[in-house]
Amino acid sequence: MSRSVFVTGGNRGIGLAVAEALAGDGDRVAVGYRSGEPPKGFLGVQCEVTDPNSVSAAFELVAKEQGPVEVLVANAGITRDTLMLRMDDATFDEVVETNLKGVFRTVRTAAGGMLAARRGRIVLLSSALGFLGSPGQTNYAATKTALLGLARSLAWELGPRGVTVNLVAPGIIDTDMTKQLTERRMDGVMKMTPLGRPGTPQEVAAAVRFLASEEASYITGAVLPVGGGIGMGI
Ligand code: NDP
Repeated sequence: MSRSVFVTGGNRGIGLAVAEALAGDGDRVAVGYRSGEPPKGFLGVQCEVTDPNSVSAAFELVAKEQGPVEVLVANAGITRDTLMLRMDDATFDEVVETNLKGVFRTVRTAAGGMLAARRGRIVLLSSALGFLGSPGQTNYAATKTALLGLARSLAWELGPRGVTVNLVAPGIIDTDMTKQLTERRMDGVMKMTPLGRPGTPQEVAAAVRFLASEEASYITGAVLPVGGGIGMGI
């Protein structure tokens, strides 16, 4: 299989592991990066998801170089943790701009080509802790659970044309993002995790790869948890 894939925030962490997994299957993978250098071996495309012009330019470049996007993995995301009483509007808005509006504008840009092609896969990175609720993360949790409403509405809009939209909800994964957690918080979350350890980016990538595959053709509007059992049953 050689599809045109675009992964936002694909230069490190989970995004990079997803890019590697799909490229390993033979897909043509473009990696969106915001800063620094793109990883070698991929089509590197500058893409700042808070900037509509940057998003449109990125999709145009991907289409020119490897064809219209057939698989979108909306992975770029940030945390700006602090207790709500100390959280100013700018801190809340920054997370909404990236994690929610960034995903919205990326998906909207991808959807046109997928509708025309009558096929496509959209996978959004949500969060198991978002669904559980997480102290200090009102902004982050609000955006990550909002993606469910976005995905399910979109599943209705795009389903008739063979395009699926699903969420992967990781628990604690060993990336730069979770290096910011205090030891106390990490211990607390591990106590809520039956498998008792953080996951790897590759373990998340395996779930994304499945939802992006032909095998997942009858799955849409779903949430696939990859959290070592954290929050199971909710
Ligand atoms: P990292 O912090 O390791 O990487 C985040 C990626 O997103 C980077 O490539 C970063 O680019 C990019 N990014 C951030 N903001 C923007 C922006 N405005 N425009 C474009 N790119 C941007 O995070 P992870 O790999 O850990 O997380 C990936 C996704 O998975 C996120 O959506 C996260 O919320 C989600 N997730 C992660 C969990 C975890 O435990 N790690 C758990 C649950 C969900 P740059 O290098 O320029 O900063």
